[in-house]
Amino acid sequence: MQSLTVVVPAYNESEGLREFHARLAAVFDQLDLACSVLYIDDGSRDDTYAVMCSLRDADSRVATLRLSRNFGKELALTAGLDHADADAVVVIDADLQDPPELIPTFVTHWREGFDVVYGTRESRAGETRFKKFTASTFYRVMGRLSQTPVPRDTGDFRLLSRRALDALKTVRERQRFMKGLFAWVGYRQKAVVYPRDPRFAGETKWNYWKLWNFAIDGITSFSGAPLKIATYLGIGVAMLAFVFGIWIAIKALLLGDPVQGYPTIMVTILFLGGVQLIALGVIGEYLGRLYVEAKQRPLYLVDEYHPPTPR
Ligand code: UDP
Ligand code: MG
Repeated sequence: MQSLTVVVPAYNESEGLREFHARLAAVFDQLDLACSVLYIDDGSRDDTYAVMCSLRDADSRVATLRLSRNFGKELALTAGLDHADADAVVVIDADLQDPPELIPTFVTHWREGFDVVYGTRESRAGETRFKKFTASTFYRVMGRLSQTPVPRDTGDFRLLSRRALDALKTVRERQRFMKGLFAWVGYRQKAVVYPRDPRFAGETKWNYWKLWNFAIDGITSFSGAPLKIATYLGIGVAMLAFVFGIWIAIKALLLGDPVQGYPTIMVTILFLGGVQLIALGVIGEYLGRLYVEAKQRPLYLVDEYHPPTPR
């Protein structure tokens, strides 16, 4: 029989985890696969890990992985994928925003021969208009800049075939933008549209500052375009300055050169100073990421790992 492992990163999800597991277990019972679930405790501060352990005691299909501290969702997910060893792996959030009932559909497409089957949100219930707007802007910018097209309105909820999983495991970069990496892997991909539910319990771990940084991570790890934009902006400004310089020279020749032009000088200095700082900042973003990669630290550290009980 083929096997399926569901990877669930969780950070402070104790309130909803039992409900999540109940729904997932019901889905497992319908599938003719050897199913297991791997819960990753990403350094939670509440009793998420205790809940995971009690689920493991009650259900032999449960495995648990505890990281040494909170590493963030992307790395928790990576840790989970590294420990998953099955013919297919499903990645899903623990907050029930991604319905586990969609997994059988994923499996059907996987059996048709798709390597990556991902859920695309058709609606985002329970999210503010501003969040929807920023999200859609991000996907649009990303779509323009990235060489690897990242499917829009798509989270991490997806199924990976064995070879897609193995390919992903070879990618060891530290600044991980998982949605982009899943797309980067390629192979045969398939989208399944679903309505996204509001959170079952607890609250989102994202605020706008984190989302902004996440967006910058995504763009810088999949595109060098901001560096080019800085170059072209520089060229554009230099050309304008050249034309302006000629105009000033002609004016001085024709009309003489009384000491004037404080406003022009101020505007020019401030504008150029601003442009230079922006360009430096862009370089800094890339340099900072290079620095993190160069340190070669491990991606995450494991505190405890308990594989599923063999039957
Ligand atoms: N998560 C995690 N580590 C973190 C933050 C979040 O493992 O540092 C998990 C979280 O428990 C949930 C999933 O990642 O299962 C998605 O998080 P959240 O619901 O906060 O994100 P959103 O759905 O709002 O994008
Ligand atoms: Mg969520």
